[in-house]
Amino acid sequence: MSEQKSKSPKAKYLLRDILADHYKIAWDAKKRGEKVGWCASNFPQEICETLGVPVVYPENQAAAIAAKGAGQRMCEHSEANGYSNDICAYARISLAYMDLKECKELDMPQPDFMLCCNNICNQMIKWYENIAKELDIPMILIDIPYNTEFETSEDRVKYIRAQFDEAIVRLERITGKKFSRERFEEVMKISQESSKAWLEATEYTKYSPSPLNGFDLFNHMAVAVCARGKQEAADAFKLLAEEYEQSVKEGKSTYRGEEKHRILFEGIACWPYLRHKLTTLMEYNINMVGTVYAEAFGVIYNNVDEMMKAYSYVPNAISFERALKMRVDAVTKNNCEGAVIHTNRSCKQWSGFMYELERRLREETGIPTVTFDGDQADPRNFSKAQYDTRIQGLYEVMEANKRGGNL
Ligand code: SF4
Repeated sequence: MSEQKSKSPKAKYLLRDILADHYKIAWDAKKRGEKVGWCASNFPQEICETLGVPVVYPENQAAAIAAKGAGQRMCEHSEANGYSNDICAYARISLAYMDLKECKELDMPQPDFMLCCNNICNQMIKWYENIAKELDIPMILIDIPYNTEFETSEDRVKYIRAQFDEAIVRLERITGKKFSRERFEEVMKISQESSKAWLEATEYTKYSPSPLNGFDLFNHMAVAVCARGKQEAADAFKLLAEEYEQSVKEGKSTYRGEEKHRILFEGIACWPYLRHKLTTLMEYNINMVGTVYAEAFGVIYNNVDEMMKAYSYVPNAISFERALKMRVDAVTKNNCEGAVIHTNRSCKQWSGFMYELERRLREETGIPTVTFDGDQADPRNFSKAQYDTRIQGLYEVMEANKRGGNL
């Protein structure tokens, strides 16, 4: 297994092309004089897809800019404009882009309207409001408040649904496009096909050894964010799942090492240091096979009300107990022997209850855990030495556990 590597899978090129097309569609629309929006990653994409309104995703852009090494430059630009260093780095990168209008690492059209949904965090409301105010453009907010209950109640569903319906009317007015119920049904069907295929592909990490390096999912999920209502995305995810199935049969993997240990990686990747994190894990023959982040974009429902519920179950909007269950399930399903927890300086919403979640995760699963300090996009908040030491520590405990608990 260790020396066997998958040939370049076709799905990954299809996914790369879908992402490139996504930006091209927005640029072309802008050139034709159509209105283009900036959209939150977990705003119900079914609305824009049905209306045929092009949108781009500032979080995706910020992640790509950070991965290409420009996170610090862009963050510093926003800080020089008076934005606090404590604000999420995605917001600082995006606010810098709004101001500069260009970034050689990844350009996208400037917005004519903003689509915000706070099911990921409330910080995003202020970020999007600032852009709307600066550029004097409209903003639509779908408020999905943090849910302290395990299930989403029917009154919450009604509250979200009323805003969903209102957002359609407002977007029709802004763009001059008409919402078709027939097309909406079709988009919901494709979105389900695509979300199910995406989730199916992510589940192949349960095989031991896994046919994929779990970090592959961090790259592919950009398509789950920005194109899950498109047939091409559904087809590409199906192909991805088929390729993983074939790899299981042939004993191949995209993980280029010998998988001796399997871990859960908790939190958003540190995009500027993705390679470093991978290399360190591979030095210890550790494969990342568990993450709830990839699953965050597999939105499953059977009707419109269930869609409202699905958007209220994204990781940052759910109760502590539901969040814990997601992690325990990921550890159990994927046979993880340890967990690496990213204490993300940018994402207070995600990291806030992580200390208690880590404690409960250890209690419920019995696996060792380590934490490291980092940031998904600001490279100044990550220390390679600290990360490496924590991975080494985890490796030693996992090795000892394999030997029966003797260090
Ligand atoms: S990384 Fe966290 S703080 Fe930043 S936009 Fe996403 S959810 Fe909000």
